[in-house]
Amino acid sequence: MVRPGVPAPNLAPLMGTEVLRERGGVRYHELKARSLLNRCDSPRMPFQWTVNPYRGCAMGCRYCYAAYTHGFMGIDTPEDFHSVVYVKTGAEAETARRLLPIARKGDLVALGTATDPYQPAEAEARITRRFLETVAGLRRVRLGITTKGALILRDLDLLRRIHERSRLSVHVSLISLDAGLLRRVEPWAPPPEVRLEVMRRLAEAGIRVALSVAPVLPLVTDGEAGLDALFAAASATGVRSASCNILFLRSPTREKYLRWLGREFPRHLAAYEEAYAGRVYLGGRYRERLLTLVARLREKHGLADAFARERAARSPQAPSQLRLWS
Ligand code: SF4
Repeated sequence: MVRPGVPAPNLAPLMGTEVLRERGGVRYHELKARSLLNRCDSPRMPFQWTVNPYRGCAMGCRYCYAAYTHGFMGIDTPEDFHSVVYVKTGAEAETARRLLPIARKGDLVALGTATDPYQPAEAEARITRRFLETVAGLRRVRLGITTKGALILRDLDLLRRIHERSRLSVHVSLISLDAGLLRRVEPWAPPPEVRLEVMRRLAEAGIRVALSVAPVLPLVTDGEAGLDALFAAASATGVRSASCNILFLRSPTREKYLRWLGREFPRHLAAYEEAYAGRVYLGGRYRERLLTLVARLREKHGLADAFARERAARSPQAPSQLRLWS
């Protein structure tokens, strides 16, 4: 079982001891689960099944859209999404039983849509690893993994095996190269150079790896120079595709994020309050401008659209930026 504050041996050099010490405050609880697989019927999503081995996520991102899911556990303070983490146990047998027909049907399984599968708890709980062991025993599973966590490198053996037998893509989430900014906005996630190293190691191992710029924070990380540098750095690691989506602000993340913005970027607060008034997402001209910029940067740096295939298969009209692939 997870012992809070006990990191995997390889994490200290990668993430720094200060970050690891802060994580000692996270409380972990066991959550008995029948299966890790959850059906996703939304036509806006490019996947049909989700797997989230944890409820809550200790990475602490200020913009994390999934904070509302702790409400289902009777917890309404968004900050607790990062300090109370439930570890799903007992789901191996049913998950394995359900996965076989899913693979046969060709459905896409997304690992890490609402919480990071390689957050610190995974160092000991190994729920993600056990799920990957199940996948590695099958063929023709379509699996996408989204993570910020360097711990994914622990599982390179399994990822290689899955890559050989199935269709695997790993989406490494990185919204900026500005380490100081990321320390404030994603306080317990690995710094950008670590995530670039993760991309490089995965690409070297022959695994299909994508840059996930999710979310773009309006006025904070949406500048052309910063995104250009980010796409260039990812491309140099061997990443061959990229995706992005715009900040989605629903309650209680909305209040939490705007409180943070008011402290860190007070000059932007009024613009956010106006732009997001009565909506959870920025569409219209802002979206058009950003998509045009991202398309241009993708072309400049030789990066494909990471979800072109899924989008084309599901619905050419589906608005890609509504995808919540955290
Ligand atoms: S955005 Fe992703 S990594 Fe950050 S707290 Fe939420 S689930 Fe965790």
